[in-house]
Amino acid sequence: MPEQFKALQGFKDILPNEQPYWRMVERVAVEVANLYGYRRIETPILEETTLFARTTGEGTDIVEKEMYSFDDRADKEGNRPNLTLRPEGTAGVVRAYLEHGMFQLAQPVKLYYLNEPMFRHERPQAGRVREHHQFGCEALGDGDPAIDAEMIALLYDFYAHLGLKHIRVFINSIGDGNCRPQYIEILKDYYRPLLAESCRDCQVRFYKNPLRLLDCKEPQDQPKIAAAPKILDYLCEPCREHFDAVQRFLRVYDVPYELDPLIVRGLDYYTRTVFEFTSDIDKLALNGGGRYDGLAEILGGAHTPGIGFGAGIERIILEMKRQKITSPADELPLAFVVYFGKSPEYKEAAVRTVAALRHNSIKTEMAYGDRMRMPKRMTGAESSRINSSALVRLRMLLDPLCGNSFPWEIIQDCTPCFIRQHYLNVIVPVYLGNSLFSTLRRKGNVIRCTVLNRSISLE
Ligand SMILES: [Zn+2]
Ligand SMILES: [Zn+2]
Repeated sequence: MPEQFKALQGFKDILPNEQPYWRMVERVAVEVANLYGYRRIETPILEETTLFARTTGEGTDIVEKEMYSFDDRADKEGNRPNLTLRPEGTAGVVRAYLEHGMFQLAQPVKLYYLNEPMFRHERPQAGRVREHHQFGCEALGDGDPAIDAEMIALLYDFYAHLGLKHIRVFINSIGDGNCRPQYIEILKDYYRPLLAESCRDCQVRFYKNPLRLLDCKEPQDQPKIAAAPKILDYLCEPCREHFDAVQRFLRVYDVPYELDPLIVRGLDYYTRTVFEFTSDIDKLALNGGGRYDGLAEILGGAHTPGIGFGAGIERIILEMKRQKITSPADELPLAFVVYFGKSPEYKEAAVRTVAALRHNSIKTEMAYGDRMRMPKRMTGAESSRINSSALVRLRMLLDPLCGNSFPWEIIQDCTPCFIRQHYLNVIVPVYLGNSLFSTLRRKGNVIRCTVLNRSISLE
């Protein structure tokens, strides 16, 4: 027998039982993004490697060796471009903004992406996945601090609308090209005498990316970090004013925020506002974001202020489950058609019943493959939940041939409520309390029912 396939390590199927969570996150994200005036964009999963190489790199979470890169087949000229599966969302969105001349539109251009897969070639240890999905927003073309506050408020609303509690918002300013270099010198002066007793990573960071010294998680370096000079004390006047304005607007939005001078971003194109959301329960970051006024220039565009965040959806769903937030379950069928007997005529009658109900937008299922019973999941707790409401009063004729007689028997004792068309051996259990079939009128050969306030015809 051929070997059975398995999904690649670090890649996961999102099974039907998980989907209600995803749909809930999706619905809330679309709602909130729309509320704040963000429009959806989708960019390709594959881009030239250099796009990501320029925007990520040593000192960020994504280093080049973690990217999913490969050489494409040779083109006509024999060149083999190196391509990369998108590791994050911002680079592609900024590339699209520049490529499509969105700088000519009214600024800022506010965009969001949703359920977009991102890839990192991480070692798939302890829950690390190689493919994950993100909801992200980017606002490009204006550096107004009101946009920074708006984006943080949007994200706060998003988590709140999902029903998440214990969300904490941390913000910081990391200055700009005007004031940050001086701060970095001050930070290095502080660290230089401490370097010998710092962890090995910090010794590298000192030379390669000093801001990331503040990111170290090693216990031995925590006292050094706590006592280090804070960038907020070294902001230039325009950066200070910007940060004050962001905080003022956040208070207007009623977003409870805290200052955390240790949130940093390691790359030069990041400027001013950076933020992080955590859940107080496990102290793990939900997502980060920040202003990147220098990014468009790195990608060959004109100077374009921008700010954005990317939030991992798997991480959010994990938090929802941890906080016992229930997602709305799949909508159950309102009717389930079962037929009895081997005669093809019975089966046809069942299919006709199903078709009539579906054509009238009533979610209907049937027993396939000559199964006489309803599937197990329909008879368990799910159906009893639905049927705890009053039993259906049914007046239903599916076949005008029946004349004025009523061929459906209502079996009231059963849960769910069944109606049975005797002579066709078809049973339609109806799952919806007392409002499925509420009225019925007969006009000639056409039976009209009012179903869920919609008038339908059953012929
Ligand atoms: Zn360290
Ligand atoms: Zn500054």
